Amino acid sequence: MKKINIAIDGFSSSGKSTIAKSLAKKIGYIYIDSGAMYRAVSLFAIRNGWMTDSDIDEKALALHISDIHISFKTNAQGQQDTYLNGENVEKEIRSLEVANGASRVSTIGFVRRELVRQQQAIGKEKGVVMDGRDIGTVVFPDAELKIYVNASPEVRAQRRFDELTAKGENVTCAEVLANVKERDERDTTRAESPLRKAADAFELDNSNMNMDEQLQWALDRFHKVAAK
Ligand code: C5P
Repeated sequence: MKKINIAIDGFSSSGKSTIAKSLAKKIGYIYIDSGAMYRAVSLFAIRNGWMTDSDIDEKALALHISDIHISFKTNAQGQQDTYLNGENVEKEIRSLEVANGASRVSTIGFVRRELVRQQQAIGKEKGVVMDGRDIGTVVFPDAELKIYVNASPEVRAQRRFDELTAKGENVTCAEVLANVKERDERDTTRAESPLRKAADAFELDNSNMNMDEQLQWALDRFHKVAAK
């Protein structure tokens, strides 16, 4: 079977990373969480004091963008951790504060260009499952398989609320729903690479599907494309 690239796009908390991870594991491909890369840039900007509630110091960020080195390593539990300049930041980048910052830095053109460059380099040899917002439209426009994952904002907010409270974050369901809607709005209306379904992507609405059903759905499409 030939090696291909698989692009999986969708809104936040659509479950795209869960399906991307399990698909990659099942077929022995590399999984790349492109959202984690935007989160790492956000954390870098927050730590350096370049991002306040109302403002981002784009000049400082532009000057130091090439100092940001992002990598991934599989941990003892078989899960992938994100590293920022050699430091494991996996836990820190999952907070609501960093997520909000990621949504904001991802609207900046030079940030996107640098991360897209790194993502394309990773996908050069194929055999990659990458999830994000612009993977099928910008990063891998020639990906052999593209999947666009969707679910209602309420279903997605409930999923994110369960995840955050399980990690001990003190949030309300209403806060999380407002955050999901705010990020949806930003992701779909920004000038730089807004989230949209690629014309040749398969759409997966998983509001009422369990993980096994979603994986089977993706595997069916993978086998058809990779066997060609
Ligand atoms: O997917 P995740 O929620 O981790 O992504 C964090 C943020 O990074 C999102 O809110 C989105 O704005 C941005 N992002 C992006 N393009 C990608 C992946 C993520 O703009 N390919």
